[in-house]
Amino acid sequence: MTAFDIPAICQNCGLVFPSGIGVKLYSQVQTHGGGSRCPRCKEGASIPDQIIRVIENGIQVFKADDFTIDVLRALNIAVEDLRSGKKPTPAIIGQLHKSSPSIANEFRQWANLGVNIVIAMAAVATAVFTWMQTPGQNRTVDEVAIDALESMYQEPQPIISQGLRLPGVAPYEHNNYPHKSNRKTRRAEGAKKRRKIR
Ligand SMILES: [Zn+2]
Repeated sequence: MTAFDIPAICQNCGLVFPSGIGVKLYSQVQTHGGGSRCPRCKEGASIPDQIIRVIENGIQVFKADDFTIDVLRALNIAVEDLRSGKKPTPAIIGQLHKSSPSIANEFRQWANLGVNIVIAMAAVATAVFTWMQTPGQNRTVDEVAIDALESMYQEPQPIISQGLRLPGVAPYEHNNYPHKSNRKTRRAEGAKKRRKIR
């Protein structure tokens, strides 16, 4: 099975970056929130609960026979429309629905997670489509898909100034991940607790 680094998403600037938590595709792992600090703006970022399923479901629909070049084109138009901000999201999804109801449903999930996830999934779509068109590959389609997703981490990404309200995401809590907070912070928190006890 293909392992990947689960994306974390900054709720302030929308950056998608590796959370440092690796999982295997289709392994039914649950993340239960969790977060870290955004490397770009230093604000709180979290791992949305649904992110793994969203990625897995996306790969599945891209592998399907009805994912044609026309659907890929419609998807790329939808991504551009969303990125430009000129059209409301429901109208974009409605348009995409005419080409592929299943992709439109997935697109709605991605859009809930922010434009950078939409861009990442479109890159996965292109990679899977290309793989399906090229016989005799030595890598699996899942490996190719995950490669496309993870290469997103290296790309410059648009800044989402309004911040994201991610559904089903626990707010960032420093104490959830004590191993990630630095030693100084941990010591300060320890001292605070001891003071409270007294
Ligand atoms: Zn950020």
